[in-house]
Amino acid sequence: MAAEAGDSARRWRDKYLDLVESHEQLKHSSEENQDQLRRALVMVSLLAEGQESSVDAALGHLREALKPGAHGMEKTMSDLERAVRRFEDQNAAQAEVLLGELSDVAKKLADCPLPKPLLRRIKEVRKQAQSELQNWSGYINQLQAWVQILGELATLEGQEESKTKWWQRWFAPRSQEGQEEQQEASQSVLSAAPIQLDQATDVAQHQEGEPGFSHIAEEVSQTLLSLLSQLVIPERLNTSANDLQARLSKGLNWYELVPLLEDTAELLIDCLGSGQQEFERFLSNLDERLRAIQLLVTDAHTGQAERERARQDLDGLVRDQIADIRSVVTGSRDLGELGSSVREHLTLIVRAMEKYQEDESEREQRLAAKLEMLQNRLDEMEKEASAARKVIEEQKRRATHDGLTGLPNREAYALRLDQELKRRTRYGGALTLAIADVDHFKSINDNYGHLAGDKVLQLLARAMRKYLRDVDFIARYGGEEFVILMPETNASEAMVATEKLRQAIEKAPFHFKKQPVPITMSFGIAEFGAMEEPESVFDRADKALYKAKENGRNQVQIGDDG
Ligand code: GH3
Ligand code: MG
Ligand code: MG
Repeated sequence: MAAEAGDSARRWRDKYLDLVESHEQLKHSSEENQDQLRRALVMVSLLAEGQESSVDAALGHLREALKPGAHGMEKTMSDLERAVRRFEDQNAAQAEVLLGELSDVAKKLADCPLPKPLLRRIKEVRKQAQSELQNWSGYINQLQAWVQILGELATLEGQEESKTKWWQRWFAPRSQEGQEEQQEASQSVLSAAPIQLDQATDVAQHQEGEPGFSHIAEEVSQTLLSLLSQLVIPERLNTSANDLQARLSKGLNWYELVPLLEDTAELLIDCLGSGQQEFERFLSNLDERLRAIQLLVTDAHTGQAERERARQDLDGLVRDQIADIRSVVTGSRDLGELGSSVREHLTLIVRAMEKYQEDESEREQRLAAKLEMLQNRLDEMEKEASAARKVIEEQKRRATHDGLTGLPNREAYALRLDQELKRRTRYGGALTLAIADVDHFKSINDNYGHLAGDKVLQLLARAMRKYLRDVDFIARYGGEEFVILMPETNASEAMVATEKLRQAIEKAPFHFKKQPVPITMSFGIAEFGAMEEPESVFDRADKALYKAKENGRNQVQIGDDG
């Protein structure tokens, strides 16, 4: 039993010793590992420090934890693991973005007419990018490769004889002409299926509506053509505009686009510049013309209703047109549209003016004819009126005058007597009536004939007019009797005047067949009494005449006081 206990103790001791040895070995190896870990950490720190702050912090903690006698390494390790994973994720995302961008650039460059070796190089570098961007050294490789490519591109630019730069050909067209030109520069994009890095992407992009230049060339040229057609092109620019139009109509290729755009822009600026001036001139000219029209309208004769209506119509039309022009001028932004619209309105106004003038001249002709007719009618009427007036005057004269002697007749005497009486009533003053009668007139008629008697009467009338005052009114009262009204004359004054007349008649040398014929007249005078009736005065004068006849004729007798 003791032996068994001793064996057992030995076995346990051996086992213990083995364990101690293996522990020692483990401890040694652990220390060794820790040491190695520390050294590795230093190396990693040197490499990774400064890339990412969270990684830096975790590495710092790790270094602390790995110091001899330190604890809490487990937590530090898990922190570091998280930080490193995050850093890797970010890195991968960045790498993907960069890869995408590099792919785009490579694809575009592959479409450019670049030397074949360069294109091949670009393709290679692009292919390598995917794997290289996985690690840091790859980034450097990529950068170096792209720097080299850029350097070669820069050199190419310097060698370009063509005006267009490689970057201008970024979207080089695939038209026939374009291809020919590209052929000279490069063989790389000529084949029906050009070697392109990302053909699938290219096709996808086309499908997504981002066409290459060939797809939009038609649209660009159409737009430019329509722009040109809308321009108001001054004559001096016609040649260059036509040239431009021809170039555009022929179809665009990439190489022509830039100079064509420049030329179009230049023409546009020229046109708009001079167009503006021309338009301003046009407007001011228009303004003058409209003012002239307005003047014409306002000066138009307004005498006739027809003319006034026409004037109003035209005036309304002009006003409407001007209002339209104003609204177009303020509403339109397009110079060409504006110009043609204004022209249209002006044409309408001018047409209306012409129509108005035509109508006006017709109206004037009609009016002139009417006026002439009217004038003729007026002349005739005037002649007729004048003749009628003469007839009337003659009739009136005949009505109031004696046909034989030309002296006022009995009716005229009645009228004059009335006037004189009224005047006397108002102003007062004397008025005397004389009645004269040819002595033995019957015997004159009998001895020398009636005509001689008439002649005597005429001569006596003339003598009376001659020897009496102008204010004295002499009328043939009938047969061989005359009455004389003497205003502002009393009986004695009338006596003196009548006596002179009587003597003049007595002395007058009347002859018949060369034989003297004695002619005398007798007179009876009566002055009007203050309120005396004319019949009474006449009666008194007549009585005085009778008295003169009684007394031997050839004398003047004054009537008794009334
Ligand atoms: P007394 O001296 O008394 O007046 O005589 P008397 O002959 O003049 O008077 P009386 O009355 O007898 O005659 C008037 C004449 O006058 C009669 C008439 O034939 C004439 N007589 C009247 N009127 C005219 C006339 O117009 N022409 C002519 N020739 N004779 C007239
Ligand atoms: Mg008598
Ligand atoms: Mg008599």
